[in-house]
Amino acid sequence: METVLWDDTAAEPPPVAPALAESARCAVAVIGGGIAGLSAALHLAEDGVDCRLLEAGRIGAGASGRNNGQVIPGLKPGPDDLERRYGDDGAQVVETAAGAADLVFDLIERHAIACEPDRRGWLRAAHSSAALGSVEKLARQWQGRGAPVELLDRAGTAAALGSDFYIGGLIDRRAGRLQPLSYCRGLARAALAAGARLHEQSPVRALERHEGRWILTTDGGRLEAEAVILAVGAYGEALRPDWARRFMTVQSMQIASAPLSENLRGAVLPEVSAMSDSRKLANAIRLDAAGRIAISGRGPLNGRIDEAMRRQLRGAIARLFPALDGQVWTHAWPGRIAITLDELPRLSEAAPGLYGIVGFNGRGVAMATAFGRAAARHAQGRPAGFPLVAAPAVPLHRLRHLLVAAAVAYYRMRDAAGLASR
Ligand SMILES: Cc1cc2nc3c(=O)[nH]c(=O)nc-3n(C[C@H](O)[C@H](O)[C@H](O)COP(=O)(O)OP(=O)(O)OC[C@H]3O[C@@H](n4cnc5c(N)ncnc54)[C@H](O)[C@@H]3O)c2cc1C
Repeated sequence: METVLWDDTAAEPPPVAPALAESARCAVAVIGGGIAGLSAALHLAEDGVDCRLLEAGRIGAGASGRNNGQVIPGLKPGPDDLERRYGDDGAQVVETAAGAADLVFDLIERHAIACEPDRRGWLRAAHSSAALGSVEKLARQWQGRGAPVELLDRAGTAAALGSDFYIGGLIDRRAGRLQPLSYCRGLARAALAAGARLHEQSPVRALERHEGRWILTTDGGRLEAEAVILAVGAYGEALRPDWARRFMTVQSMQIASAPLSENLRGAVLPEVSAMSDSRKLANAIRLDAAGRIAISGRGPLNGRIDEAMRRQLRGAIARLFPALDGQVWTHAWPGRIAITLDELPRLSEAAPGLYGIVGFNGRGVAMATAFGRAAARHAQGRPAGFPLVAAPAVPLHRLRHLLVAAAVAYYRMRDAAGLASR
């Protein structure tokens, strides 16, 4: 059975409305109560737009309430690579990506969101000399733009992590961590206060265009809107199969320990808020406010909690922090990640007035916040900080389960051989 650490330690749920049970109208409807949808609703409401958000389960039910809580600015490619990729839009893409963690921590401060924010930086640790080359390239690109990113040698990495397992790394001081479900709940509270209407337990069963407006049908209600923001991540593939063909879903798994003793707590990640390593199938590690350690990694393909995966994650901690071998692990839970072949997220006008957000490739806490704001602005026809980009269908999408299984095997081999990835 899954036990999600964040469910047990989150701030009070916001007073969100129950299931939609009426026929209503609004200017913009948001589908999905994860970080992307909540940020969209908050920014729409702050701009005075009449909006409603429909969430299938409860706020933060998807990846947003299940992740490792690392707030990392930027996209996987560095800023120089992003400028090349986005051409004329490159400068605004880099600005938005670079400022994504600032946006999160500003929202936390402005709306007094109680989500255990900790902003001492994120360490990307290199697992091989080839990987160190790509870590150095990324650091130099950000340093060239004045970002507070430092390169670390082996000793510096060991001091910052409390582990001598890696050969070097970078620290991005713009980054940090938070309690992800509390962050979602805080965004929801702020959106409500700004005038958005939010409904839980309201899965949208159909989304159709009729006479220039969008009609959303739920089990007990109907919502008519001029524009729609589709922010269902990897949790709503059935709603628009045409949209779901534009990304693939991979499974992740996470475990968390009981609070560590004072001694151990001080020895783990003493100088940073969080870390992840440079392998393609990376592990991400952080402590929470009570000193529990949480580690995420690639999950079983069937998305269930699996003893072999649990062992793998416990083994990863024991290799990095031998003093933690034998800890009591109290929580284990899965989560889904939407990936794209070029590792870039999509913000697309999938049909007239239908703005889709997807594909953060495991880096959505900061960027989904930024994309939600950008979608809110696009829906108003305003400059958005990120362009609408095409989202082509993934080739051979119907074979995606086989492709993902093959890719996991391939990357496991590359990671073991020390090859570089972004
Ligand atoms: C284990 C794990 C660890 C991660 N760690 C990190 C990390 O440390 N840092 C980081 O930056 N990123 C991390 N990520 C990625 C990050 O969590 C995601 O990129 C981000 O949460 C995506 O947000 P979202 O709003 O797009 O989607 P989601 O949070 O998945 O939200 C989609 C919502 O849509 C709802 N929905 C679906 N269908 C419908 C429908 N028909 N009607 C109404 N509602 C619907 C779902 O119930 C869900 O609540 C991690 C992900 C996982 C799974």
